[in-house]
Amino acid sequence: MSDIRIELAKTLKEKPTDESKLGFGHIFTDHMFVMNYDTGEGWHDARIVPFDDVSLSPAAMCLHYGQEIFEGLKAYRTADGTVQLFRPDENYKRMNVSAERMVIPKIDEEFMIEATKKLVEVEEEWVPHSDGASLYIRPFIFATDPYVGVRPADHYLFLIILSPSGAYYSTGLNPVKIYVEQKYVRAVRGGTGFAKTAANYAISLKGQDEAHEQDYEQVLWLDGVEQKYIEEVGSMNIFFVIDGEVITPELTGSVLPGITRKSALEVCRSKGIKATERRITIEEVAKAYDEGKLDEVFGTGTAAVISPVGHLKWGDKIMTINNNEIGPISQMLYDTMTGIQWGKIPDEFGWTVKIK
Ligand SMILES: *Cc1c(COP(=O)(O)O)cnc(C)c1O
Repeated sequence: MSDIRIELAKTLKEKPTDESKLGFGHIFTDHMFVMNYDTGEGWHDARIVPFDDVSLSPAAMCLHYGQEIFEGLKAYRTADGTVQLFRPDENYKRMNVSAERMVIPKIDEEFMIEATKKLVEVEEEWVPHSDGASLYIRPFIFATDPYVGVRPADHYLFLIILSPSGAYYSTGLNPVKIYVEQKYVRAVRGGTGFAKTAANYAISLKGQDEAHEQDYEQVLWLDGVEQKYIEEVGSMNIFFVIDGEVITPELTGSVLPGITRKSALEVCRSKGIKATERRITIEEVAKAYDEGKLDEVFGTGTAAVISPVGHLKWGDKIMTINNNEIGPISQMLYDTMTGIQWGKIPDEFGWTVKIK
């Protein structure tokens, strides 16, 4: 793998002055990381160049058959002004798991971490300063061969783009409203549910769209075979606190193995809270609710970290969780993980990586 060539932009964009209006995913920084893959040559020509459009053949294979994978992580500015990443090794390990499933050539994980650090270092000024805001990092790989036939491609691009994003909870940790999806499914055993690939999102849009029409924010996906076992929320993993025990669906191949999920389990266990990964049905959750044992429900993901669920609908049954307020375990996890990410509490797990 080659060194990283750096070509700086001649003019820089104006940085947003009001960080409370950053939102998510609209604004991109001055530079991006790019690397090519060509069969025979492997991955080559790693470079940081001015952020610009990508030129593709209309026949580019990614546009027709969706051979694409991505990751999502963040850079955080700590109180002492340094910038750090959260478990980037986990993101790039998962990137290669996704690559394997989608027949995309793998990239050395250490190299991807180095490329990310280098790009964030170049764009350090873009890392927001305000509480809760961060620089979102989006690495992705897609097939570029100009060929309208079905086979794994011979040519790929690996890009990393950066987007300053605002505090997820500008108005406090408001619980979300979700319903149990009973019509559509997101993933099946043997499919691509565990891979971070565009296809999983394309499939989920219809359910998401219908949920929005009914004034719900997200849907809770059930397993694709029996529509009985709980899987995840589609961009978040899901957790239930039943009778004091923290439970999340086990990784059966159709659930995305979230890094926030993994971290939440590790934080719970380090504090002596029983945290279990197992199959869990929607019936079991409803029964626990009826018995007054469903203490908390929350989603986990890089964007929101912890997203309490206040309202969970299953058919005609509406469950109001913890009085539509954030519960103690959700709050503890949120405080611990954001505390580590923004350097407010010591990182006893060794999860953070300084960019320089
Ligand atoms: C990225 C993602 C998650 C959350 O993963 P994190 O690593 O915690 O951000 C959950 N579900 C799906 C489908 C995802 O793509």
